[in-house]
Amino acid sequence: MSHESPELCVLNPATEEVVATVPAASAADVDAAVVRAARAQTAWAALPPGDRARLLRRFAAVVDGHLEELARLEVREAGHTIGNARWEAGNVRDLLDYAAGGVERLTGRQIPVAGGLDVTILEPLGVVGVIAPWNFPMPIAAWGTAPALAAGNAVLLKPAETTPLTALRLAELALEAGLPEGLFQVLPGHGPVTGDALVRHPGVAKIVFTGSGAVGRRVAAEGAALLKPVTLELGGKSPNIVFADADLDAAAAAAPMSFLDNSGQDCCARTRILVQRGVHDRFLDLLAPAVESVLVGDPADERTQMGPLISRSQLERVRSYVPAEADGIRGKAPEGPGFWYPPTVLTGVDPHARVAVEEVFGPVAVVLPFEDEADAIRLANATDYGLSGSVWTRDVGRALRVSSAVRAGNLSVNSHSSVRYWTPFGGFKQSGIGRELGPDALAAFTETKNVFISNVFTSTEGSAQ
Ligand code: NAD
Repeated sequence: MSHESPELCVLNPATEEVVATVPAASAADVDAAVVRAARAQTAWAALPPGDRARLLRRFAAVVDGHLEELARLEVREAGHTIGNARWEAGNVRDLLDYAAGGVERLTGRQIPVAGGLDVTILEPLGVVGVIAPWNFPMPIAAWGTAPALAAGNAVLLKPAETTPLTALRLAELALEAGLPEGLFQVLPGHGPVTGDALVRHPGVAKIVFTGSGAVGRRVAAEGAALLKPVTLELGGKSPNIVFADADLDAAAAAAPMSFLDNSGQDCCARTRILVQRGVHDRFLDLLAPAVESVLVGDPADERTQMGPLISRSQLERVRSYVPAEADGIRGKAPEGPGFWYPPTVLTGVDPHARVAVEEVFGPVAVVLPFEDEADAIRLANATDYGLSGSVWTRDVGRALRVSSAVRAGNLSVNSHSSVRYWTPFGGFKQSGIGRELGPDALAAFTETKNVFISNVFTSTEGSAQ
């Protein structure tokens, strides 16, 4: 079986050429890594907070010094456009800086009690496992890693099979920055072997998982056997709700990249474009040229807006969602080697069809008409997911009502922006459990200890003096 092969073969998704082969970590490698990580964590947690913060800032600075190298590597292993890849490497730097700023601010509380003093202390969990997907290999790895390290934990990061290279480079840069040996280790490998070993290991105190719902459920179930906390980020099928009173030009101009960015391999992709019936046809007239003009091609070219899909299996998965005879808008994509799929917008789709309710994870959106505000809310909530969503309207009251009624973790009004490292991110419903990023990110990697210190104790030695 492929998941037992001792090596991972990393392909350039734009050319299908082999970029590298990487040894896959076995369950025994995971055992050894946990021992090293536990040792490193004890010393790391004992460091003065200022020293931990300084080392993390140094890590951020070293990443900053290698932004272009990391970005070029991501273009080759993941097919990301160079512009996106630069942003992603910069996001790692920013996450490390932001988390470093939290080390000295990770304060507990002092709670009024009779007979003494009561304080809470936020202690690190120990060794944290981060299981990352291939769609945003660097940022998602750092979402878990940076706050976990800042809170005094060690991190074992398992990157996705197809994209281990930037993660491995980040581990080298951590050592170059002076982070202790063993504190941040990268374990490339197969999910059912390396990932599973991390989830089942009693020495791993928490798992942060991003990926498919099927594997996320399995991780949660296996974690439950050990009462191991898990954070799950599991994708979405997010609505882009366009009301008749919206600035239609702006809404149509912004819609393409809200689901085509990263070739649609984005858990926040706005792939359900809900348009009020009165402006439906006009919106499509505006949308068509915007979709058709998206530049799809060589991800290393600065002008390119959309690159290939990650793999042949992902390409086949995306194809399986799009009926051959479907109506809609289609952009252009290169022919020949590489995992290319054109920007695609389907119209006249049954709102219950697979493509309208399941996560495709490719450059495919559907347009569904709605009648009024209540109908828009009903349609927006008619999927199992609840990660993101956008509302386009000039009516502030409506923007507030709809944002409140849509059951999703990240909403934007007259914008598609949903991810900032300093604001919380995560899903409702089948999109996940827990939150990442934002001001509380470090607390998610701590246990709260309550200590009561009595003021009535009298030492016998003390009383003799
Ligand atoms: P996946 O869930 O199989 O993989 C995600 C990560 O989990 C990888 O690192 C993988 O090696 C690991 N993994 C796999 N099996 C495991 C196991 N038994 N125990 C522990 N770890 C395991 O996702 P995929 O197959 O790469 O993608 C399939 C679909 O998942 C996509 O088409 C998309 O719909 C969804 N997806 C969502 C996100 C997201 O951001 N939420 C990211 C990637 C994929």
